[in-house]
Formats: sequence, structure tokens, C-alpha cells
Amino acid sequence: MIDIFGLPLDQLTRTLRNDYGKGLFHAEALYREVFKNGGKNIGNAPEFKNSLKFWTELEKALVPVSGKVEETFKEDELVKFITRLTDGLKIESVVIPMTRHNTLCVSSQVGCKMGCKFCQTARMGFKRSLSTSEIVGQVFNARHLLGYDIKNIVFMGMGEPFDNFDAVMTAVEVLNSQKGCDIALRHMTISTCGVVPGIERLSQMNLPNLRLAVSINGPDDATRSALMPVNRRWPLAALKKSLEAYPLSSRGVFLFEYILIKGVNDSMDHAQALARFIHPLSVRLNLIPYNPVTGFDHQSPSDEQMHDFAQTLTDKGVFVIKRWSRGRSVSAGCGQLGKI
Ligand code: SF4
Repeated sequence: MIDIFGLPLDQLTRTLRNDYGKGLFHAEALYREVFKNGGKNIGNAPEFKNSLKFWTELEKALVPVSGKVEETFKEDELVKFITRLTDGLKIESVVIPMTRHNTLCVSSQVGCKMGCKFCQTARMGFKRSLSTSEIVGQVFNARHLLGYDIKNIVFMGMGEPFDNFDAVMTAVEVLNSQKGCDIALRHMTISTCGVVPGIERLSQMNLPNLRLAVSINGPDDATRSALMPVNRRWPLAALKKSLEAYPLSSRGVFLFEYILIKGVNDSMDHAQALARFIHPLSVRLNLIPYNPVTGFDHQSPSDEQMHDFAQTLTDKGVFVIKRWSRGRSVSAGCGQLGKI
């Protein structure tokens, strides 16, 4: 069987060569027909129309996109969709409209092991990691089943991408191929809660255009460890060291996410400490007000607190973007996936 959603182009080429005596020509045609055209009319493409015997055999071997989109929820233009996987487990993905095109937030695992206190996904526990095919399938379904023009991918859905490193990086390779999905590396963002070995492995791959986001949420070890158990394993000093060694492109920046939780991490002292942690890294900081989730009884900060916190950082030279969380009513805001 051939699962094109899980195969980078070179591997697909090898498979076609080994199984059918074909090669790059047909592999590229298959990529184009599936990823660019939605896979509905592959047999009519000239490369296959003229090789009917080959196509008849290949058609039987092609695995359809894994998982079934079961439900979609809308809030204005933001859409969360739920996919039931072949083993019955469910994952969530979110289409986020941006100024010129859509971003798709994809899941990399069913549930998550990382246990961040403010996160709904953490409450599900960890079920399993997704395959490359299941990750790429979310993009395929968003584009070709639901009809959204997806140009950006963020690995910020359910799961910690670096806890599923190989499948995620193979998905990045599949999605990046110009012959298929054609999503540029600079339009893909991997978001980690701070799994340092993952940052180090990514450093070694030397992909400076791929964007790296780090969820910070606490500017000192005590605050951060209370919110994010991952910090006990890899404290802020280790995290910073791995970021300092990261091969950012000359104009590249790290995206830092900081969820502001009233009375927990939103004081001016926290803002000062955060500025010290950031210096001298090249960072764009997204400040996000906490989206209340069941089981973590805290509140969002007031608009004024958000502004004051942001201003303290701006005064220290940090580039801050205030994000007013979108998607709260459909539980598609940051840290809210997993109520299914
Ligand atoms: S915030 Fe991300 S890493 Fe943390 S528990 Fe939730 S899904 Fe996992």
C-alpha cells in the first residue's frame, strides 16, 4: 500500500521505482494530482491516462487520506474541525483567517504529556502521537475537503511537536515540497513548550527559515515550573542556552508566547524579569490573555493590565504583539483544544 500523505517525494519516487519500475516523473505527477488538485481525477492526468495498466494497479495501492472530518464549529470566520482517526480517536485543527490568507493550526499528538496547567489538551492526558500521514491529512482536508486556502501552518494544536519529532519533521518536508502542497518553510511554525533536546535537534537540521515558537508563560523558574512541568526538566537557563545556539536566519526572530494569567504571572516584576530573559535574543513576543479552562480556576487580566505589562516590555526594547484571543466560544483559543 502507498500512503502518499506520509511520504516525502524522494521516498515516493523510490517506492514507485521498486514496486512499478516508474520514477520521479510519475511521483511528481502523483504529488501534483493529490496535493495540488485534491486527488479526485488522478486517472485522467496525462501521466496516468497513457499508462492505464500502471494506473489500475496504482489506484488499488493508494491509501486514502487518514481520518474523517466529523464536525466543524464556526465563530465568525474561525473554524475548528474535528477529525476521527482510523482507530476512533479524535483530533482538532483550527483554520484561522489572517489578513491575506488562512493559517491552519494542526495537532501533532492525541492529547499531550506535558501537563501545562492552563491547557485543556493536558487534561485529556496522552493517547498517542500522530503519524506524518495524519498530520499532513489535516492540511489536505482543510484545503480540499473544507475548501480553505491555507498558506501558513502552525504546529500549535494538540500535543508537543518535539515529543513527536520525526513524524513532525517528515510532515514539514512533505508540506514544503513545491511539487505538492508548496508551503514555504517561512510559512511554517513549530511551537514548543520548551523541550530543549527538540530545539537542539532542530538546530542541527539547519533550517533557518522554519519558524520556531516557544511558549514561555513564566519569566522565572518558580513561576514557570508551577505552570509548566517541562520547566523542571529543562529550566529557563537551559532553554535560553539552546536558543542562543540556534541558527536563526539573519533577519529571523523567535516567536515567544506568553499567556497572561491574572495574579499568577502578570506583575510588573514578571514583565521586568521577562525582558531580562529575552535579552539579547531576537524575539517577537505574543501576549495572550488567559482563556479560562475547566480545572484551572484563574482569570484573564484586565485590558489595562495587558497594556501595562506590554508597555513595560516595550520600554525595555522588546517587540510585543497583544493578541486578543480569538475563538473562545468554540474552544479554539490558545490552550483550549481538547474538549472533545
Ligand atoms: S500547552 Fe501545548 S505542550 Fe502544554 S500541555 Fe498543552 S498541548 Fe501540551
